Amino acid sequence: MQIYHSPLDLQVTAWKWRSQGVNVGLVPTMGYLHQGHVSLMKHARDRANKVIVSLFVNPTQFGPNEDLSRYPRDFEHDVAVAEQAGVDVLFAPTPLDMYDDGSPVWVDVPDMALRLCGKTRPTHFRGVTTVVTKLLMLAMPQFAVFGEKDWQQLQILRRMVSALNIPVELIGCPIVREADGLALSSRNVNLAAEERRQAVNIYAGLTMAATRVADGVTDVSQLVADVQAYYERSMSLGRIDYLEVFHPFTLQPLASITGPARIAAAVFFEKARLIDNMALNNDLLSDPA
Ligand code: AMP
Repeated sequence: MQIYHSPLDLQVTAWKWRSQGVNVGLVPTMGYLHQGHVSLMKHARDRANKVIVSLFVNPTQFGPNEDLSRYPRDFEHDVAVAEQAGVDVLFAPTPLDMYDDGSPVWVDVPDMALRLCGKTRPTHFRGVTTVVTKLLMLAMPQFAVFGEKDWQQLQILRRMVSALNIPVELIGCPIVREADGLALSSRNVNLAAEERRQAVNIYAGLTMAATRVADGVTDVSQLVADVQAYYERSMSLGRIDYLEVFHPFTLQPLASITGPARIAAAVFFEKARLIDNMALNNDLLSDPA
């Protein structure tokens, strides 16, 4: 496995591969790699001749009072995990490598970016769309792999790629969970022991909603009120950021469930804000890729 820090080094290799017709897959990450990331790398490994993984804690997607400084990092561990997963190139730039100090340039999908997580993190997704655009320009992959754990991010990126005619296929992979259901996240390490015990209820509440919908419930306000009450009972150390039912691809809020629908939650604990989501009517839902 080669490790590049310089964007130019990556681009030179990517150009060479592109001109040789090599099938390249890109997996963007912020590092502190876990089995959720590994599932994306394995998916890329199965489909690509060359797999590029980026490892970059992107400062522009963190707000001023967010957890950039305590975002977990372990470069040696990440190198070992990526090597084990059969990655060809690990791209690990610094913020200075990625951003010059000229006047700022943003790629933005403003409507979708202000929904769900965007209500409390209004500048988050423009940081994501901007850095992913840069990574796509540097790695020039035929496809890039993202986790459905960040469902909103995936839909925003699909919109961006479509609207800007970026010649890349985006692939969504299912959420990888702990045995008790908690979605794997680099941020889980910032949970205290009792918070970790309570955090499993994020998943339990979403599962409860999916079961109700499977049983025929269609009224969203009742559904959300029930899950919210469950969260308040079962997560005394958590504070709900949002709990919302929405159209899976447009992200527009839904009042009743008559077609494709998804539920998503975000919960603040003392040092970590956790997100999760779930399809509400599996038979109607498929990723548009
Ligand atoms: P991150 O390093 O958290 O920015 O995540 C990098 C990529 O891994 C994103 O596409 C995430 O959606 C994906 N990812 C993170 N956690 C999981 C998980 N538990 N299951 C599947 N994909 C995940």
